Amino acid sequence: MLSIWGLPAFDDNYLWIVHNGKDAIAVDPGDAAVVSKALQEHGLQLRAILATHKHADHTGGIARLLAQSPVPVYGSQTDQIPGLTHPVSDGERITIPELNLTLEVIAVPGHTLGHVAYYTASEQALFSGDTLIAGGCGRLFEGSAAQMRASLNKLAALPAHTRVYCAHEYTLSNLRFAAAAEPDNPQVAVRLQHVQSLRAENKPSVPSLLADELATNPFLRSDQHGIVATLRRECGLPEQADADACFAALREWKNRF
Ligand SMILES: [Zn+2]
Repeated sequence: MLSIWGLPAFDDNYLWIVHNGKDAIAVDPGDAAVVSKALQEHGLQLRAILATHKHADHTGGIARLLAQSPVPVYGSQTDQIPGLTHPVSDGERITIPELNLTLEVIAVPGHTLGHVAYYTASEQALFSGDTLIAGGCGRLFEGSAAQMRASLNKLAALPAHTRVYCAHEYTLSNLRFAAAAEPDNPQVAVRLQHVQSLRAENKPSVPSLLADELATNPFLRSDQHGIVATLRRECGLPEQADADACFAALREWKNRF
């Protein structure tokens, strides 16, 4: 197994490094200094950069990292990733020979139109960027609620033991919202308590387990009876609302929660 390290950056981001003790890739290097420092301290050679989407907290360090070591940059053409050398598309497989690592590209539009996630079966890991965030999901800056729901459904279909490496430490506030959206779900309460104690000790709550997301993340459960009932009560969701309308109402409620 490879090591996957989350480097804290900015207020609440995680920049991910995957390595074998010698060679490394960086996922969403928003801050070059943070990534360079970790590579240097541990004698790691950067071999590739993967970007999930275009936002600066995910891509801001790419140019400086490339100035230090010109490596392939994988990401979406639609999102115009800086320094992009390898535009990726849905279903494509990326191989990093130095790490003997293969990743599958999953197109997940919604947060941005070109957002992609990277899944590796050998490491049982998903780099989900700002699409599936522990306990929640990203905001809809460019895509529609229907697009985001379809994107999350694709990720939800991965093996339940997959670890979800999202880009932000938002879990606590996400789970407070989850508890409001689905007050009768005992697993939400258990997870909320667990994450509260992790954060009280300043420990990361990421990665999470996909099985836990399926059981507690309201954005993977927006058609569940308990959540629909809450949306009717809190947001005036009509009786005949379809699954996309439920998801849209949930996402809008979260924006103002
Ligand atoms: Zn973003």
